Amino acid sequence: MTDLASRLAEVDARIADAAHSAGRDPSDLTRIVVTKFHPAQLVTDLAALGVRDVGENRQQELTAKREALRQAQVPGLDGVRWHFIGQLQTKKARAVRAASDVVHSVDRDRLADALHAADPGGDPLDVFVQVNLTEDPARGGAAPDEVERLAEHIAQACPSLRVRGVMAVAPLTDAPAAAFERLARSAAAVRRVVPDATWMSAGMSGDFAEAIAAGATHLRIGTAITGPRPEHG
Ligand SMILES: *Cc1c(COP(=O)(O)O)cnc(C)c1O
Repeated sequence: MTDLASRLAEVDARIADAAHSAGRDPSDLTRIVVTKFHPAQLVTDLAALGVRDVGENRQQELTAKREALRQAQVPGLDGVRWHFIGQLQTKKARAVRAASDVVHSVDRDRLADALHAADPGGDPLDVFVQVNLTEDPARGGAAPDEVERLAEHIAQACPSLRVRGVMAVAPLTDAPAAAFERLARSAAAVRRVVPDATWMSAGMSGDFAEAIAAGATHLRIGTAITGPRPEHG
């Protein structure tokens, strides 16, 4: 077994343990492998190991990797779903819509409007409303008291987007369990306007067990599976 295969298997075993401890079925969880800063080849290697969901946080890198892999005609990549998990400038919405299957970081009306306008009649795009669990507005995400209104805006004004739930990154300063409890409250607020928005994107390499305990459905795991990220500019 390669190092990558053994790290993947080990993380999956830890995910299953955390799910069982929380009384949840591991098959209800989507494990997204975050491939940012790694070469496109890593996605090929992961797909060969059966990985179906990968995450990227920068538009140029996402677009370049998808194009490189399309040109290489790597078998098995058609079934891979690309999740965009990073902060997103409105002017890059069109490129992100073209290159991703799910966007986790919708945090304001204008961004939702731009994602919708990029392909108003296209296949619906699954989106999460990102929630800022910190006091720092630069961290990305809508303030918790804005989340319900934003979900309502997307549901009413952006028919090509499908609100599936909420996403957050735990703040460095808080215990992750407490932060994820607050996220679960935002999830409930979104469900008041979109009752079938049952997804919750939370949990990274260091805190996925706490996220699973708090109800996460989509885990975004990088370094615990990929190893350290290469330096980037
Ligand atoms: C990089 C990143 C992750 C993965 O982080 P790891 O600590 O490497 O698991 C998850 N979510 C977001 C938004 C990220 O940018």
